[in-house]
Amino acid sequence: MARIVILSCKKIKDVTCVSCMKCFKGIKERAGEFARYGDEEIEIVAMGNCGDCPGLVMPKMGLIMDLAKVYEREVDVIHFGTCMVRATGTAKCPINLNELKVKLEAKFEKSVVIGTHPW
Ligand code: SF4
Ligand code: SF4
Repeated sequence: MARIVILSCKKIKDVTCVSCMKCFKGIKERAGEFARYGDEEIEIVAMGNCGDCPGLVMPKMGLIMDLAKVYEREVDVIHFGTCMVRATGTAKCPINLNELKVKLEAKFEKSVVIGTHPW
């Protein structure tokens, strides 16, 4: 069982990537960065966003992990949505995803994957 938190770009989520349908399709089809899970069951524990520009991911993730403790929810992996990857490539997003991945992994001791669906 992979228990996942997906973080999205606040500017893109539900605006040009409507209703997060692509990530749910990617999970069902094990497409894109979800292919790594193969037949393993996937549980989405939370879907949050970056907190808007210029990116408040560290404090946001702290709050998500606090809530996960309160509600007795385990988290194994944090995914940056493909929306965040697109934002850094095309929308001048100020977040350095590689640096943020290292910081999150060190602080929360969870794996971080850059990307979700392939579309
Ligand atoms: S990439 Fe995923 S998390 Fe981001 S807006 Fe699209 S469907 Fe939602
Ligand atoms: S462009 Fe980057 S910092 Fe701004 S909302 Fe999107 S992911 Fe967050």
